[in-house]
Amino acid sequence: MSKARVRFAPSPTGPLHIGGARSALFNWLYARHSGGEFIVRIEDTDLDRSKREFEEEILLSLRWLGLDWDEGVEVGGQNGPYRQTERLDIYREVAEKLLQTGHAYHCYCTEEELAAEREAFMAKGELPRYGGRCRDLCQADREKLEAEGKRSVLRFKVPEDRIISVNDMVRGKVDFACEGIGDFIIVKSDGIPTYNFAVAVDDHLMEINHVIRAEEHLPNTPRQILIYEALAWETPSFAHISLILGKDRAKMSKRHGATSLEQYRKQGYLPEALFNFLSLLGWSPGGEDEVLSMENIVEQFQLDRVSKSPAVFDLDKLNWINGFYIRQSPLEKIVELALPYLKEGGYVPEEPTGQDKAQFRAMISVVRNYLSNLAEITDHVEIFYKDPTYEEEDMQAVLKQDQVSQVLSAVRQRITDAGLLNEESAKAMIKKLPKELGIGGKKVFMPLRVALTGHTQGPELYQVIPALGMEKTLKRLDKAIAVASST
Ligand code: GLU
Repeated sequence: MSKARVRFAPSPTGPLHIGGARSALFNWLYARHSGGEFIVRIEDTDLDRSKREFEEEILLSLRWLGLDWDEGVEVGGQNGPYRQTERLDIYREVAEKLLQTGHAYHCYCTEEELAAEREAFMAKGELPRYGGRCRDLCQADREKLEAEGKRSVLRFKVPEDRIISVNDMVRGKVDFACEGIGDFIIVKSDGIPTYNFAVAVDDHLMEINHVIRAEEHLPNTPRQILIYEALAWETPSFAHISLILGKDRAKMSKRHGATSLEQYRKQGYLPEALFNFLSLLGWSPGGEDEVLSMENIVEQFQLDRVSKSPAVFDLDKLNWINGFYIRQSPLEKIVELALPYLKEGGYVPEEPTGQDKAQFRAMISVVRNYLSNLAEITDHVEIFYKDPTYEEEDMQAVLKQDQVSQVLSAVRQRITDAGLLNEESAKAMIKKLPKELGIGGKKVFMPLRVALTGHTQGPELYQVIPALGMEKTLKRLDKAIAVASST
């Protein structure tokens, strides 16, 4: 079999959404798994809604996700241009061929006429469609209409009484009766091709042999097959991947969380987490594992394990996967990614000193265990910045127990003796305390926790001490000792 050539063909009318990202990813995976080629083509024929900014954002999002392409916008290739508005001459030529072979014709119907026709079909309980009024206009009719200043579109002549079968690699055989299709527009009156026409022309000329895209394009497929047939072009294989639904089984929308990849990036989701999560939206590798590396997914990806049923977007699962990657990534990487959030929250000085940096490192190493995305970090670092007042009743209750000032003073002594403690030495010091002081663990650790953080639960104490740093640790201990000793 020849090499797989697949494509992602976004319309730059908005940012890259979860659904689009999943389509791009499945195409990319298909190509990378089989040693094929992945092409990115920009479908910008909706002149009013297409914007260069969106194109740039989509491409950035694709790259952020970890995808690369062998041909397409930005990288070039032998089958360009890869932006549809730069291919208008190509469509014109193909449209001319369809006109000459009788597969297409000029239609002069006005919007009003078409609307009236649609109404009439609906009144009869039939599918609204174009009834073929201009199908058989002769040259003289056309000249007359043109002399009247009427503008025309080009319509494709859909054969009557035929069934078009799509042998879909995901959905199986799906039949469409031509009757319900109606002669559709292939070139608008301004000379711009419609989606169905441009997509078929491009997929053919770019030698795409597998079209993998969202289920919503399935009804377009018979139209595209008709164009291939009229031009005696080989039809590619099609794979329509299912809709993405929210957990409530409604179509995924803003209500279910962020919908664009850029929003997830901004919230501090890691690309490897989204890559992993998106790959499981409709595909499964068979085993139970939900955390899979890019290499592993590429190795296992097959279309026959892509499900026909809708995929469910489970934000909790994404959060869990993202939290996992945040904990597993090298600390340095997380520090770098987390700093912008801390800066924005005002937690990082303009020019951090070496000691500041070491402390951030220690702090991030503690709080990353609690994050499902990096933007949440500012909620978790509060304990390191806001000195506790110990005024709350439950804080007082803990600090006013017997022997608390003795415990806290002993810890203070050990910390000053040791100099700045790191996680390891702090752990060793804390572990020995109950035995050395002859006091039960609970009576040691809870007051210490309250003294250091102002909370009765939270991160491991041996992590809290280095993250606070010497100065804050001693300051908090002193204050807590004062509270504990006051009557
Ligand atoms: N430009 C179309 C879209 O963004 C692409 C559809 C296709 O893949 O054929 O939905």
